[in-house]
Amino acid sequence: KVLLASICVAFLAAKWTSPRFDADSLKGARVLVTGASTGIGEQMAYHYARFGAQIVITARREKVLQQVVEKCLSLGAQKAFYIAADMANESDPDKVVDYALEKLGGLDYLVLNHIGPSPFSMWKGDVDHTKWLMKVNFFSYIQMAWKALPSLEQNKGSLVVVSSLLGKITSPFVAPYTSTKFALNGFFGSLRHELAMKKSNVSISVCTLGLIDTDSAMEKVRGITDVQAYPATDAALNIIITGATRQPELFYPWFTYFIAITKDWFPSVTDYIIQNSYNYIP
Ligand code: NDP
Repeated sequence: KVLLASICVAFLAAKWTSPRFDADSLKGARVLVTGASTGIGEQMAYHYARFGAQIVITARREKVLQQVVEKCLSLGAQKAFYIAADMANESDPDKVVDYALEKLGGLDYLVLNHIGPSPFSMWKGDVDHTKWLMKVNFFSYIQMAWKALPSLEQNKGSLVVVSSLLGKITSPFVAPYTSTKFALNGFFGSLRHELAMKKSNVSISVCTLGLIDTDSAMEKVRGITDVQAYPATDAALNIIITGATRQPELFYPWFTYFIAITKDWFPSVTDYIIQNSYNYIP
């Protein structure tokens, strides 16, 4: 009980002492958001637009990006551009950052959010798919981060990485996906240390999300789990605030923090809960 109370106090203290969000700080901010044609990325684009930011968005589908850009402009974005790119192509991550630098004249925020589609099913040995997913969900992230760092450095900028509770705990049916998220957490956790040791003024925020009600996520888990999904628009706003206040981590919804820190205390209980949170009959 004492331990639990201490964790709660530590959590609440961290919440209360976290810096206040100043919406005006995003007016005119130069932002690149990836995976912004749908889901959480699209919602982030709309929030940044309402805050009056200058935005570049990217994903593969040009027509959809065009519609999102039009809506961003109608919501109040100072500028909004799109560039279609496939993050599985080796040159596209650099191409996208170059485009954003050229259109906006620099970057204050790089928000890495895109993911390639991946089946929600038992691992059936598809190594090629896992390699491809690593390219899209991981290698493109580090390539874009490296390309954008000099500009972020010049502008006291922020790097925001959208990760998942599945980058902190393992779960069935998502072996390739969870691998990419663990890789992100490892890489950007290490990079955060290095930037701090170099006294860099770039902040890194890694966002741990639980189940969010995007179409792609809901399509996968419908009928398979009863875990509650949280709203994409709220998740998007929390990610933006975390980046703007330069906090190292976001846990959304809040209880994902407790799952992440308690998962190793009683491993067999954790495994039991995870394996029984899915409707699966062999
Ligand atoms: P969506 O599937 O809704 O959106 C994925 C985005 O990535 C789309 O804009 C898609 O656009 C783009 N994309 C897909 N493949 C590529 C590619 N090869 N190259 C470039 N862009 C690509 O994802 P969510 O909004 O659900 O998730 C957003 C983030 O949140 C992800 O990082 C995810 O891991 C994380 N998250 C989501 C959770 C959830 O329950 N939804 C839970 C935990 C974390 P297009 O098809 O046009 O290329």
